Amino acid sequence: MVFIVIEGIDGSGKTTQAKALCESLSKLGYDIVEEREPTDGVIGKFIRQVLGEKVRLDLMSLQLLFVVDRNEHVKAIKHAIENSIVICDRYYYSTIAYGEASGIERRYLEDMNSIFPVPDKTFFIDLSPEKAVERIASSRAKTEIFEKLEFMERISKSYSKFTESNIEHIDGDKGITEITEELLSRTKAFLEERGIKPKVAKTRRRF
Ligand code: ADP
Repeated sequence: MVFIVIEGIDGSGKTTQAKALCESLSKLGYDIVEEREPTDGVIGKFIRQVLGEKVRLDLMSLQLLFVVDRNEHVKAIKHAIENSIVICDRYYYSTIAYGEASGIERRYLEDMNSIFPVPDKTFFIDLSPEKAVERIASSRAKTEIFEKLEFMERISKSYSKFTESNIEHIDGDKGITEITEELLSRTKAFLEERGIKPKVAKTRRRF
């Protein structure tokens, strides 16, 4: 079936929207598999420790780990898309944007990620770094290594370089419900284009 990715800088609302989209589509009877990166596998868990500054690692090593985590993850994604709609919170766009913001050459990051399947549709939730930092500060007790304003500005600039035709942008500065409705309506339109209809009402969560 199809592989859909939700992307954006930290605090843009990806996780909130990916969950809401999975729930709404599932209620409508679509067969949904909810995924996220970093994954909950061994590499993904290790990545979270580095992001939470529990383990110190060189930034290049961290980007390589994201690629390793993805290499394991795509096997599950390929399997799931045989019969289901896969919705994934973050994918290779994150590695490229965060990696470039860390000072790694973009072309190199693109090459490393060129082995992975291109999503059928990617929704970028756009939000200014200032607003994203504000949201993070008010919602999280502890920030992660990438969540400082100057770094977020570099990440945002790097995200803006993606211009592939499978990418759609959503204004992340609206209310949560309004964004959810827009995302749902655009996803339904896309599924209709692909001739995908609801099957049975169920969500298979992998975490
Ligand atoms: P991300 O996954 O992109 O880091 P989250 O979904 O975790 O973002 O959202 C970060 C914080 O911002 C959460 O506290 C969430 O409730 C809040 N939030 C998400 N979307 C919106 C929105 N549209 N307006 C206001 N706050 C939001």
